[in-house]
Amino acid sequence: MSDIPQLSRADIERLLTATGTAQQELFERARAARHEQCGDEVKLRGLIEISSFCQKKCDYCAMRAPNRDLDRYRMAADQILEIAAEIKRHNIKIAFLQAGQDPRHDEVIEEVIPVLKREMGFHVLLCLGERPKPVYQRWTELGADSYILKFEISDPDFYKQVIHVPIGPRLKALKDIHDAGMKVGTGNIVGLPGQTLKHLVDDIEYGISLRPDFISSAPFIPNEDTPFETDDNGPVDMTLNTMAIWRMVLGTPLIPTVSPLEKIRRGGQYEGLMAGANVMTINFTPADMRERYAIYSRERFVVSLEHAFKTVEKAGLKLAGPPVMHPEPLRPLPEGLGEPVGAGAVALPMASPGGAA
Ligand code: SF4
Repeated sequence: MSDIPQLSRADIERLLTATGTAQQELFERARAARHEQCGDEVKLRGLIEISSFCQKKCDYCAMRAPNRDLDRYRMAADQILEIAAEIKRHNIKIAFLQAGQDPRHDEVIEEVIPVLKREMGFHVLLCLGERPKPVYQRWTELGADSYILKFEISDPDFYKQVIHVPIGPRLKALKDIHDAGMKVGTGNIVGLPGQTLKHLVDDIEYGISLRPDFISSAPFIPNEDTPFETDDNGPVDMTLNTMAIWRMVLGTPLIPTVSPLEKIRRGGQYEGLMAGANVMTINFTPADMRERYAIYSRERFVVSLEHAFKTVEKAGLKLAGPPVMHPEPLRPLPEGLGEPVGAGAVALPMASPGGAA
């Protein structure tokens, strides 16, 4: 820990609530840390939401098991691989499989991981919830590189109140993922009903203590068909400040600028890049399934390639890869993706290095 700048709880609280000039100074420090430790590249992930079934009942999520009104789906292996081929054609190097906690889908997951890794050459990123340690070990052996398991809430009592199970298994799963040999991503939610400033300071300290390979913060969005349906959006500024603190203190992790930022505030993902983020996730889930993947709300903001290009360029950063647009998709693309940009495949224009970062 000696190489990590130490912040007191009072420092964290001051930075977390910073506004105006103090907030801009925090963001400048975060961008300087990113520039120094990660460079000015933004990585893209190609997201496939492979199942909307879930065993859990988090109060903020419409995919919670008790929601009988959700029309759920599981993707077959060939469907996942077909979408992955589209991601590869766009020269996106990270295949990101996400789902509710749905162990009944594990057979399909174990069929596709080796193909994604060994035949298609992807960095394989999973976000599939808690499993016993041997499952994480098997997935690592099959070729999975990284795993996101957000702690969401670090205070044990508040976790139990909102997620309805003890926090222990989730923290054990984070350790199991690391021990299995995958890179570990985690993160929190800002603005949950009943959350206090103390809870958020706890989250920031806990995120720092884990020293993860990637970490994210997302503002709470009230979701239909959940107990929090009528509550207010979480605060974008405190979410951005959380990201900036983690960037400034931890330096190296990948930090995504997440779609709920854009959903709540137009330009929110650009602001995320200006607060030190360096990852964007492009949603390749076909539209008919995407609408049934109710993780944030039915009308969530769906990140397209075009939106990512514009956002990264505006922030004066460069896209890693770079990704490629094609005039003709292999199959009809999800709405908003892969619009023709002229004859032949072209690399998209890159922002000049050394801009706002
Ligand atoms: S947040 Fe994740 S684990 Fe919780 S109910 Fe939604 S999909 Fe399931």
